[in-house]
Amino acid sequence: MGTRFTLDWGTTYEVDVLDLGLACCGVEVMAALHGRGDDQDRPADLGVRPVSGAGAPERAHVLVVSGTVTDVMLPAVLATYERMPEPRYVLSVGACSNTGGPYWDSYSVTKGVDQVLPVHVAVPGCPPRPEALLEGLVALHRMVTGEVAA
Ligand code: SF4
Repeated sequence: MGTRFTLDWGTTYEVDVLDLGLACCGVEVMAALHGRGDDQDRPADLGVRPVSGAGAPERAHVLVVSGTVTDVMLPAVLATYERMPEPRYVLSVGACSNTGGPYWDSYSVTKGVDQVLPVHVAVPGCPPRPEALLEGLVALHRMVTGEVAA
């Protein structure tokens, strides 16, 4: 039986999470954030509320950057972050977002979104499993609630 996750912020508050899925990692993030049907481990049941649509950045306090960040996309990533209200947190998901991943030596790829945004938690993998994203959210929650120093 696999590990089951409990996000304690589900009993204390809810957080709106905006997924900026830029490549294949974004598919894994979608699977993790939206779960499967009535899966009790679905983050939405535990206080993590995915948001989308035109006004999503103004509501979200957590930005998930998943996938390859190309230099041409970087202004849009920054603009999304700037529209988010304080406090705002960034979760970088996958090797591409963390370091450029398999495309680290490409002329057109940003070598880690942490070069331009304050990344609070980086989830490794190519792609990370959905469980890894959940672990990243748990780590972020611990950091925000002061259990772990930033
Ligand atoms: S880390 Fe791997 S799976 Fe994720 S976006 Fe890059 S190439 Fe795709």
